[in-house]
Amino acid sequence: MTLTGKVAFVTGAASGIGREIAAEYVRAGAKVVIADINQTAADAAASELGKDKAIGIAADVTDEAQVEAAVAKGIATFGNIDILVSNAGIQIVHPIEEFSFAEWKKMLAIHLDGAFLTTKACVRQMKKSGKGGSLIYMGSVHSKLASVLKAPYVTAKHGLIGLCKTMAKEGAPHNIRANVICPGFVRTPLVDKQIPEQAKTLGISEADVVKNVFLKETVDGEFTTTADVAQVALMFAAFPTNALTGQSLVVSHGWFMQ
Ligand code: NAD
Repeated sequence: MTLTGKVAFVTGAASGIGREIAAEYVRAGAKVVIADINQTAADAAASELGKDKAIGIAADVTDEAQVEAAVAKGIATFGNIDILVSNAGIQIVHPIEEFSFAEWKKMLAIHLDGAFLTTKACVRQMKKSGKGGSLIYMGSVHSKLASVLKAPYVTAKHGLIGLCKTMAKEGAPHNIRANVICPGFVRTPLVDKQIPEQAKTLGISEADVVKNVFLKETVDGEFTTTADVAQVALMFAAFPTNALTGQSLVVSHGWFMQ
């Protein structure tokens, strides 16, 4: 699968899953815009991939002006946007009554407003170029099922499936596809932070959080890796027709089976 001549705009690509997707896309021949709220980390990720292949741009995906400016800078640098990976995300875990309204709104803003704002800016370019494109949303197994302590995350990740299905329909006449990737637990900073938090809230050891909460329902007790997710992201980006659109693909060691 090749992405030669393609340009990808990947949010949250300074760390974890997004960073691996950016690297996989460059290996497949794409140029990549690494858009992240963390400017220093975005610049570091871009320079690791090579200055002619990647650019780091500071952007908070919840801020419309910053998203518009980042997409414009990506187009000015590499000439187009063919692929959007809306991946930036955070996690906050509490029982519902301990969530502040501000935390709830922050979670929905990063995951859903971020997807909306980046979609809007990238779709405009995909239509203008006449080349179409691929919209990829980073969902989760939590786009399919729920876990305790994660009300806003589960709500937002389910919401991405609705946006994806809508974009599959709106995008089809313009050769724009939309799909969701739904990973199981991946060892990134986002997950590492949750282990002690969940141990404290649930009153169990950190080892038990991993074995009996995170990986309990997998077929083999294994974490999904950033490389696993990047392979799926490559497939969705490179797939050449509208035959594969409006889908959500779970990559989770069998934690959730369709
Ligand atoms: P991560 O913490 O390693 O990386 C997230 C990146 O997003 C960071 O670089 C961070 O700076 C950036 N970011 C945060 N808020 C931002 C904002 N407002 N604007 C722009 N960038 C912002 O996390 P990760 O595990 O790689 O998560 C990436 C995505 O994958 C998230 O959407 C997450 O929900 C999803 N996901 C993760 C897992 C997992 O187990 N790690 C599982 C399923 C889905």
